[in-house]
Amino acid sequence: MTARKQRNRKLVQNRSDDYWDLRIYHRAGKGKRGPRYLIKCGCCENELEIYYDSESLEINGVMASLDNWREILLPLLQEKQRRRLITMNRQ
Ligand SMILES: [Zn+2]
Repeated sequence: MTARKQRNRKLVQNRSDDYWDLRIYHRAGKGKRGPRYLIKCGCCENELEIYYDSESLEINGVMASLDNWREILLPLLQEKQRRRLITMNRQ
């Protein structure tokens, strides 16, 4: 068992950013179903599924093109990165 898999099974694993680590499981594609990530909350059994292929993502049953998801998710992720940089620069 890899270290990542061992860590996946434990709840409430602290990260250096003061949040709990997500628990991430991957399943290879099979038949019509593409490969999937199952991502579980670090503190409870809440979860989301991401099915993916070279052109699209389906996140918890919501299907869209990669470009469509990029328009929504990248600015959100970059915003956090920007805030972290600002905080680091103040210290
Ligand atoms: Zn939770």
